[in-house]
Amino acid sequence: MIDTHCHLNADVFEGRVESLLKESKALGVRQFFVVGWNQASSEKAVELAKRFPEIKAIVGLHPVDTETSQDLAWLTPMIENNRESIIAVGEIGFDYYWHKETHQHTVQTHVFDQQMTIAERFQLPVVIHCRDAYDALLMHLQNRGGTYRGIMHCFGGTPEQAKGFLDLGFDLSFGGPITFKNAHIARDVLKNTPLNRLHLETDSPYLAPHPHRGQENTPTFLPLVFEKACEVLEISANQLELILKSNVENLFHVKTK
Ligand SMILES: [Zn+2]
Repeated sequence: MIDTHCHLNADVFEGRVESLLKESKALGVRQFFVVGWNQASSEKAVELAKRFPEIKAIVGLHPVDTETSQDLAWLTPMIENNRESIIAVGEIGFDYYWHKETHQHTVQTHVFDQQMTIAERFQLPVVIHCRDAYDALLMHLQNRGGTYRGIMHCFGGTPEQAKGFLDLGFDLSFGGPITFKNAHIARDVLKNTPLNRLHLETDSPYLAPHPHRGQENTPTFLPLVFEKACEVLEISANQLELILKSNVENLFHVKTK
């Protein structure tokens, strides 16, 4: 299994990464894509990727973090100098849950567009965060034009919105919420996602799956997400494992273990 989105660069994991990797590997989780949300956390993701061969870094500025700084001058040199470690730009996107004001949305859009352009320049896929803004983001991407290569991370939209992003070229990724008792829509969307457009993740330390909901999440919980996905998709663990590996290779152009 591959955790395509986790934050082992978060402060809560300081000094615990090596043991978490060991525990996760014992449970069959063999690769980890560590995602930044600002400059410092992106640097940390790259640092971890250099230290551990099973880690790759995804770097970018999260929409909510545009509140602190909108500076992106660091991003291009970081990618240029770490091509081996960095496999995508993210997490970037729209968040209208934490930012409700129109002027904040304008800032998010501007920062998002700049990062899309950087990703395109390096031919890297993008990892997209979207909260309470699926229709706005869809419309923005449709108006922007072009074809897209990336992941809608921890997708929580409706079946119609899922279709919109799939049509634009995005893959969908699912995490802990598909295990929640009331998450009928998320499971429905998962069931209708083409098998070659699907990824799994933990988003650690957030969104721990059932029965750990509300607790700290770690990549050791990925098997709970994986088992639920097998059940929803009605396919065997072996089949799903092969599908997910090939999806990761196709999207990120990395070798899987
Ligand atoms: Zn995340």
